[in-house]
Amino acid sequence: MITADMKVRSRVAARFGSIEGTDTMTRSQAVIGKRKLRLMGTQASHGSYALRDFLHRSAVPFEWIELTTDEQARELAQVENLQDVRLPVCIFLDGTRQYAPTIRQITEKLGWFQTSARAEYDLAILGAGPAGLSAAVYGASEGLRTLLIERSAVGGQAGTSSRIENYLGFPEGISGADLAKRAREQATRFGAEILLLREGVRAELQPGKAIGYLADGTSFVMHSAICASGVEYRRLNLWNEDRFRGAGVYYGAGTSEAELCTDKVVFVVGGGNSAGQAAMHFARYARKVCIVIRSSGLKETLSQYLIERIENSPCITVRTRTEVTELHGTDRLEAITLTDNKTGEQQTVDTCWLFLCLGGTPNTEWAGDAGLARDEQSYLVTGPDLRQHDGFAETWPLAREPYYLETSFPGMFAAGDVRHGSVKRCASAVGEGAMAVTFAHRYLAGR
Ligand SMILES: Cc1cc2nc3c(=O)[nH]c(=O)nc-3n(C[C@H](O)[C@H](O)[C@H](O)COP(=O)(O)OP(=O)(O)OC[C@H]3O[C@@H](n4cnc5c(N)ncnc54)[C@H](O)[C@@H]3O)c2cc1C
Repeated sequence: MITADMKVRSRVAARFGSIEGTDTMTRSQAVIGKRKLRLMGTQASHGSYALRDFLHRSAVPFEWIELTTDEQARELAQVENLQDVRLPVCIFLDGTRQYAPTIRQITEKLGWFQTSARAEYDLAILGAGPAGLSAAVYGASEGLRTLLIERSAVGGQAGTSSRIENYLGFPEGISGADLAKRAREQATRFGAEILLLREGVRAELQPGKAIGYLADGTSFVMHSAICASGVEYRRLNLWNEDRFRGAGVYYGAGTSEAELCTDKVVFVVGGGNSAGQAAMHFARYARKVCIVIRSSGLKETLSQYLIERIENSPCITVRTRTEVTELHGTDRLEAITLTDNKTGEQQTVDTCWLFLCLGGTPNTEWAGDAGLARDEQSYLVTGPDLRQHDGFAETWPLAREPYYLETSFPGMFAAGDVRHGSVKRCASAVGEGAMAVTFAHRYLAGR
């Protein structure tokens, strides 16, 4: 049987020549290894996780080399020991080495970090998930000067999915990272500008135009805009949760970590499709996967096809009416306490892998500050739903009704998961992104 340790050692050997126990490595493995960017660090490091996660979601082929001894740290990473602050180390295809690089430094090196080329855009899109990417493809291909702003990696939530199986045209399914990569290339080919690692923080709404502000101080005029900022993962809200973030506690389906869970015991919290998909994906590697849910069963929250697969998977168990109430460990997660929410009975179990797929809350803080109408859960209200929103009739400035995806500010649209009443699916986000562009055209033509 190939263990995770053996895999790591063979990857190390692929780059640095054979080390003890890796003489079974084939030549082709070594050749493949040489073509990839390499990342070396310790497993329990938040910095290493953040880089792995970004590279994985961006579909950048890379090799993760886990360092487990000071000797490896000296020989392979050329740092003092495993505690050296210069870890993780990233080695690029041209041989350049970066010590403890930031994600921005990596995107700069990959040539992805751009500054905006203009001061004014016909269409600005906030968020490069499926909705924003789709809007960028349609906007740019239809001749609009299009700017797409993304604070993290392209792909949004979809980029974290190991396999999207219900997206039209991919009968075998497609990984979210691959789908996002294709969309990014398509949008760029049509001339959309993509600003990665930039956060939209404020919008000044004036009649006929708006000014967008990014966290780095950049501002630009936008003649129409689409907010496609999706949702943010929910947390457990335990006191020491931050300490283990990326060091045992992961948000979302953790596709970048799945292979590292080989032979391990993994816990997935959540009862939705993303949790079900994550559990199925981990089951390919882990010894045991336990889904933890608060309710009494998966029937109400999970698609039937996933329920059947989970039931047929011998290594997946489901713990119902249970919550994770404590996290234990020093530098990384070592155990969790599970509490039965009916009896109060507690059990502490050893695990280094906890994946939280708890759904999310919409990213609309800036929109609230700008005065856009939101519902009780902070989703953006659009189109006909605005009629039911308090104060709308008094503040809507135009004689016409708002277009279907238009927010309470004319010319600013919302698409995808961030929108009140949206269907939380890739296909609908993509559809809404495309539709919003049509309405943006109508708005621009009618000004
Ligand atoms: C693990 C997982 C598996 C899934 N599997 C499926 C599936 O199989 N099939 C399916 O149909 N759906 C699936 N979904 C749901 C689907 O991914 C979402 O419905 C879809 O991604 C929503 O797209 P979106 O563009 O509206 O928002 P998101 O995907 O949430 O993207 C929003 C983007 O906006 C960015 N952003 C937010 N605020 C700002 C800001 N202020 N400045 C700049 N950028 C910002 C975020 O970083 C993010 O990249 C899955 C979701 C998850 C989490």
